[in-house]
Amino acid sequence: MARETGGKCKLCRREGTKLFLKGDRCMSTKCPMEGRKQSAPGQHGARMRRKVSEYGIQLREKQKVRRMYGVLERQFRNYYKAAARQKGVTGENLLRLLERRLDNVVYRLGFAPSRPSARQIVGHRHVLVNGRIVDIASYSVTVGDVVEVKEKSRGIDLVKSSLDKQKQRDPIGWLELDVKAMRGVVRELPSRDTVTVPVEEQAIVELYSK
Ligand code: SF4
Repeated sequence: MARETGGKCKLCRREGTKLFLKGDRCMSTKCPMEGRKQSAPGQHGARMRRKVSEYGIQLREKQKVRRMYGVLERQFRNYYKAAARQKGVTGENLLRLLERRLDNVVYRLGFAPSRPSARQIVGHRHVLVNGRIVDIASYSVTVGDVVEVKEKSRGIDLVKSSLDKQKQRDPIGWLELDVKAMRGVVRELPSRDTVTVPVEEQAIVELYSK
């Protein structure tokens, strides 16, 4: 299972925005984006004030979204191609396709505190889709899919504590969650509004249209 390695907080500092890659820490004052180290990583990060070209802006926007969802470059490009083939606005289609990934759904339902840990939970075969184990993080959910934590895995501390905190969060409109049963149902496909992190998806489209 290929994935991005390296310090997760560095990725947020590079993109200049919170990508929520570390669960609880992201919501706490320990998050480096909460004041202390908001500059780009590296020795000269704080002094870097280069004028950014249009290409640079487009590239950063693509990297931000790619890193947020933990998708490698080639796979991200494939998502873009699939989005361009669909009817409607390509940028929005792209975000919707990413939202439908199983690891993202596991995160959104609150079975894991972050997308990277959701990816692990899926990879370690703790998640069922429609009653069957699915260990492919990129599995794309569709309307009516039932996503749940396997019965034997319901005692995992990480899952339990994450779901406890989920109760305090706003419900995700396109997913229906039964906290007690550790089960979610895909009520409808996600809309653009689901992605609350500021993203200029049109910049990504312009980058790939060159
Ligand atoms: Fe680190 Fe999370 Fe803050 Fe990003 S949002 S800098 S991953 S603690």
